[in-house]
Amino acid sequence: MKITGDWITRPETRAVCDILSAGGYQALFVGGCVRNALLGAAVADIDIATDAHPDRVMDLAVRAGLKPVPTGIDHGTVTVVSGGLPHEITSFRADIETFGRHAQVVFGQDIVADARRRDFTMNALYARPDGSVVDPLGGIADLRARRVRFIEDPARRIREDYLRILRFFRFHAWYGDPRSGLDPEALAACVAAQDGLAGLSRERVGAEMRKLLAAPDPAPALAAMQGAGILQAVLPGADARAMAPLVHLESETDTAPDAIRRLALLGGEAVAERLRLSRAEDRRLDMLRKALVEDRPAAELGYRHGIGDGGDILLVRAALVGEAPTPETWQELQRGAAAVFPVKPADLMPGLAGPALGARLRALEARWIASGFMLGREDLL
Ligand code: ATP
Ligand code: MG
Repeated sequence: MKITGDWITRPETRAVCDILSAGGYQALFVGGCVRNALLGAAVADIDIATDAHPDRVMDLAVRAGLKPVPTGIDHGTVTVVSGGLPHEITSFRADIETFGRHAQVVFGQDIVADARRRDFTMNALYARPDGSVVDPLGGIADLRARRVRFIEDPARRIREDYLRILRFFRFHAWYGDPRSGLDPEALAACVAAQDGLAGLSRERVGAEMRKLLAAPDPAPALAAMQGAGILQAVLPGADARAMAPLVHLESETDTAPDAIRRLALLGGEAVAERLRLSRAEDRRLDMLRKALVEDRPAAELGYRHGIGDGGDILLVRAALVGEAPTPETWQELQRGAAAVFPVKPADLMPGLAGPALGARLRALEARWIASGFMLGREDLL
């Protein structure tokens, strides 16, 4: 079996494989790029496994004139940016002992040992630079069946790294078969081990939750997490019951998945801290959540927030109340987004200045909004 894709044949990626091959080492694509190529899905980042020691990878890259960055040198990862794309090269490893996420690492020559320390069978797929697939653990069968299955004993794998609980739900949301549901043995192991989530760094939890929430349809995975008490453990106060209606409305309106919009629907306490949201993400979430409480008319949402954010507010609100926005509501949103407040600060100066000017402008704006944007400059002044 062979995979193909622009990313494999691209000279910049070939160059990275070539520096390893030229040194007499293996270069094997692994993880998401192989899995997604087999599914015909988009490939985001490129992970490469090699039997070269990380120091040797650094050395070979430098000699080839590429800039290696020791992004995770402790666990054997060197990132080489080539053609603007990061290629994460990780030396074959076998985790000999693990305490939570801190694996005691040995670098090895053995692809089977390397495969066995990964999380799910569908993530333990490899491909040579010519695209031929290497499947040491039977991951292709699980991928074809869209079955997210832990490699070997789920309970043990979760004890090695509790993030795998969240990764289980994330990969199910993206690649699992929603009809056959989650693997019961794996789900039971996740439930039993959920106390371990508390020890994870917020960065890792945040990154995983963002990816889960950006899935085309995260509703079934989130429902399972809520049923298991895991959603509560990650985001106290969150409620995913309206996620399925939101996803339905998104697809009806051709609206792309968006993690922050979906977070706004989930609610919960201290979300920005718990998921280590960026400033911009936090601001947007805060804006959406405030707007949900305020319950302003669609036209005003359009005027204040524009079509994009205004539309997000309408969708989340509709999902929460269980009633789709009408075509008139969408028209109102557009009308508001196009409206331009006719009074300028200069119209009130020099009579007013400073805070008084600001207050007067806001009062006039409120009157204008309340009029449905009908009052003109003369009416207002
Ligand atoms: P994507 O990049 O699309 O999010 P991915 O499968 O490439 O998906 P990464 O997080 O980039 O996921 O990890 C690359 C590979 O490394 C995974 O496919 C898996 O084999 C392994 N891996 C990553 N994180 C873990 C983990 N916490 N436990 C075990 N294996 C892991
Ligand atoms: Mg990846």
